[in-house]
Amino acid sequence: MSKREFQTEVSQLLQLIIHSLYSHPEIFLRELVSNSSDALDKLRHLTLTDEAYKSLPFSPRIDLELDEEKKTLTISDTGIGMNEEDLSSNLGTIARSGTKNFLSLLSGDAKKDSNLIGQFGVGFYSVFMVADRVEVVSRKAGEEQAWRWVSDGKTGFEIEPAERQGVGTTLVIHFNEEGKQYANSWRLQEIVKKYSNHIAFPIFLTYDKSEWNEAEKKSDKIRATEQVNAASALWRRPKSELKDEDYKELYKSVSGDWEDPLFWFHTKAEGSLEYTTLFFIPSKAPLDLYHAEYKVGVKLYVKRVFIMDDAKELLPQYLRFVRGIIDSEDLPLNVSREILQQNRILTNIRTASVKKILSELKSIAVDQPETYLKFIAEYNRPLKEGLYGDYGNREALLDLVRFKSTKVEGLTSLADVKSRMKEGQKSIYYITSGAESLLRTSPLLEIYKKKDFEVLVLDDDFDEVVFSGIDKYGEIDLKAINKTSTGEDLKDENEPDKAETLQPLLDKLKSTLGDRVKDVRISARLADSPSCIVSDEAEPSLKMQQMMRAMGQKDMPALKPTLEINPDHEIVKKLLTRSDDAVAEDAAWLLFDQALLMEGVALQDPAAFVQRLNRLLSLSV
Ligand code: ADP
Repeated sequence: MSKREFQTEVSQLLQLIIHSLYSHPEIFLRELVSNSSDALDKLRHLTLTDEAYKSLPFSPRIDLELDEEKKTLTISDTGIGMNEEDLSSNLGTIARSGTKNFLSLLSGDAKKDSNLIGQFGVGFYSVFMVADRVEVVSRKAGEEQAWRWVSDGKTGFEIEPAERQGVGTTLVIHFNEEGKQYANSWRLQEIVKKYSNHIAFPIFLTYDKSEWNEAEKKSDKIRATEQVNAASALWRRPKSELKDEDYKELYKSVSGDWEDPLFWFHTKAEGSLEYTTLFFIPSKAPLDLYHAEYKVGVKLYVKRVFIMDDAKELLPQYLRFVRGIIDSEDLPLNVSREILQQNRILTNIRTASVKKILSELKSIAVDQPETYLKFIAEYNRPLKEGLYGDYGNREALLDLVRFKSTKVEGLTSLADVKSRMKEGQKSIYYITSGAESLLRTSPLLEIYKKKDFEVLVLDDDFDEVVFSGIDKYGEIDLKAINKTSTGEDLKDENEPDKAETLQPLLDKLKSTLGDRVKDVRISARLADSPSCIVSDEAEPSLKMQQMMRAMGQKDMPALKPTLEINPDHEIVKKLLTRSDDAVAEDAAWLLFDQALLMEGVALQDPAAFVQRLNRLLSLSV
């Protein structure tokens, strides 16, 4: 038997793991099962690719054997195994240069260091959080001699020749005080299901099972061996091997949904980064879609090992309705939450995943319009959130979002709106902020009706906020029709200029309305109504200001609207001829107040409005 010391770095690492790395010692099992799974992958690869190994039998399995009395757990695999040299270098030194580098960065401050360590795989050594003695007996593929490696995880290890039936590795864990809680079959099953359910190889647990003995009215202990993982990792199989039923079943198991998904996208990326993604779109929007504390629907796996299911950084927030799996080959198993936030690998996967989801949605919109409508009925709103937050994918999102419009029943796309543009129409127009019925009857629409131009009706509360930041669809301007500047381009060039004749009336209206308006001017956008109000380009509409105040933004400055009057309207024409009397003053206020009402804005002084209305009514009845 030869005694050897751990490489200095290993001792350092062990101390660190035991004292500060893992808040959940249970992950020792995840790490060991994952090592076994890697060893099986390696042997399979050899038997498939290397002539010398082709004749080796390959019957992959991982066995957990629990001895409840002795408090030991044995983990065996039929994988590639290790010889003396492998044992000594893999389990006694830290070969990976990344880890060495990392150790040189250590500051000695346990807290800082444990954040750092999340970036590096430390795998095997985590077993010493729960064990005071570990024995490894291993026989390498293609060799006859087996070796035993034994360590208490403190100073060093011993290696001696041993015997083992068949190729593979067997690890015996002697649990310490902390680890005794894992000498429990129920606990072990739970941990395997949680982290290793989708490891591609079967994992069996042998344990003392209680069985009810009806004859003697007592429980008997019997030794049982049962498979504890699903061993599916469906997403790692080629698409061609999978049936719709397989996907639907997996969806239900990862999402907890009863219904089938609407559709799914399965992608395997190979190249500088290797990963698999499988995303599902639920047929009904999750109930917590609009809760601040929504549940994340995408689970992160590394090499088929479950890592976490509550990482909000896996996809942007607006795609929080997506369910499924991201399985990376490149992330370390013990990647921590802090690291995820700035991890380059994950950022790349995320960027590619978003692009993939959006482009697949686009294809569905084209190829399966019926299905796409079902999708839109549930998820139009979150897509609009994306328009607001995901600048990089704005173009793609603009093509996916659907709109109500003055021209079609139901919903329409911007591409279709563009194709319906009339000659002389320079922009795509929309009206926003208010209930649909109010928007559809707004005086602001009159000129567009007259010219037969389509206007999008944006009646979601946050549409104004979203769309005020978007001024183009491709090359075409997107314009809100309640802004002072819109409508300028609609002026009829041949129309005689009425400014001069109307100026005295404009001045008078302005002095009557005082500081309630920014300006009073002649409108080019009205046909049947006498007046309307519009806002400055960069300012929120009155309706929006009202909503912001209602939501608690008390310090919202009172921004003034511009009143526009229709020079061809009877009331306006008659007002021109009236001298400055009380009737003209009432009329001025009524022109302003009715424009506010049509915008859905509450009047500051409804009583005054009614009095004025009644005074004028009494003159005419
Ligand atoms: P990692 O798995 O991140 O490389 P570990 O400390 O868990 O780090 O393992 C170190 C090395 O020991 C592995 O890379 C592998 O070569 C070897 N090893 C560990 N467990 C096994 C096993 N069950 N069968 C074969 N080799 C193993």
